[in-house]
Amino acid sequence: MEGVAFPSSMQSWIESLPDDLLQVVSIISESGGGVWVVGGSVRQGLSEVVPHDYDLTTNLRPEQVMDLFGSSNSIDVGAKYGTVIVRVRPDGDLYEITTLRCDQEYLDGRRPESVIFGDSLLEDLERRDLTINAMAVDLARQLLYDPFNGYQDLQNGVLRAVGNASTRLSEDGLRVMRAYRLMDQGDAGLWSPEDDLASALRDCQYMLKNVSIERIWQEFRRILAGQNAAQVLEKMSEDGVLSTIFGGHEYDLTGQARLADISSDEVVEARLAMMFRADDASGLMKRLTMPKVVITGVQELNRCLSHLPNATSVSELRLYRAVLGSRLNQQLACESALATSEVEEVITLLASLPANVAGDAPLADGHWIAEMTGLSKGIKLGRLKEWLHRIQIEEDLPTLAEVEARLKQLEWQDGEPTEWPRFYWP
Ligand code: ATP
Ligand code: MG
Repeated sequence: MEGVAFPSSMQSWIESLPDDLLQVVSIISESGGGVWVVGGSVRQGLSEVVPHDYDLTTNLRPEQVMDLFGSSNSIDVGAKYGTVIVRVRPDGDLYEITTLRCDQEYLDGRRPESVIFGDSLLEDLERRDLTINAMAVDLARQLLYDPFNGYQDLQNGVLRAVGNASTRLSEDGLRVMRAYRLMDQGDAGLWSPEDDLASALRDCQYMLKNVSIERIWQEFRRILAGQNAAQVLEKMSEDGVLSTIFGGHEYDLTGQARLADISSDEVVEARLAMMFRADDASGLMKRLTMPKVVITGVQELNRCLSHLPNATSVSELRLYRAVLGSRLNQQLACESALATSEVEEVITLLASLPANVAGDAPLADGHWIAEMTGLSKGIKLGRLKEWLHRIQIEEDLPTLAEVEARLKQLEWQDGEPTEWPRFYWP
């Protein structure tokens, strides 16, 4: 296989390579081994995107790599599959180095039964999923290896399988998810699969049943967090992949394209909440091995969804803001995306509403209330604390003295505490 000189678009990537990586490469080269940067970082380098990690491949066997870096600077994370993690110094950056391989049969539709280590870079590139992921860079000789014209596909924004698309997808269902994830190229927009891959994606989704649910969720999470997630979801929906992943559970993509820019953790929950707003999808989310925080986040968003404060009531606006706390922006982003009635008015009002003078935390704690009322720990004290907190927020009480004055007006001695107002929304 012939390499070509680096295209000029790679220059800034080459110049920005971390020192630690260059050292890893020279340690292997000086020992006589071959080493290439492969995979996503080459793809990103050629698209002038800064990579978040670098995958390396070598013709050395895993034991040789470990000998070279020594036991304190190398970890065997999957020597069976040829993968070792190395660093050049304590606390240095970690790099995954995988020995060149030619994969064996795909028996369970996921991992090859065994891997055979090889000496051929071409064979190693042949087993990769997409042409844009099947390029290798030899830093020592300044050569790019691109046997499947991945660079051309990259320039045209096309996703193409290495080899026959349906064969490749039916070897490994994870490639279905990876293909949808890679359609989203951030600032470069939505890339399309070429025709063969497009139809293989529709025909081979039965393969997803062979993929571990954790891996599906990992890829799906990245899809949801992507810059062009709405379009990818639309495509997955058209192709029937969303139904497959959700096991037939109902979903609705309304509003996805209008969701504002919020942090990536927030956006994942927001997209799920909007998708599953019609009914409780907790069971499905659990089955998809989503972390508990994500599931709770989605449930919280859905609990409040479409329940906006009354725009004419300052006290409601204050309560809404205080109860939602750090989730306020995320909630409003969903409401706005779904065009809940009066949402823009509420957003404007909240933006100009001064912060509460005493902040949003309760001024009156349990000890103080116990002292003032003689109540001992229990439901009555707990609910009275919530009631006072709510009044403090709604009326913007500035001091504990004001809270005390309001406490004197409450008929807390009598009545059913479970009926008292709570610090709660809606
Ligand atoms: P990113 O690092 O952004 O997730 P990536 O493409 O580098 O993207 P990795 O999981 O790091 O993804 O995989 C590194 C490379 O290994 C890929 O670029 C691809 O060449 C190959 N690869 C990964 N998973 C598969 C797979 N399921 N089938 C075939 N090749 C794969
Ligand atoms: Mg990678």
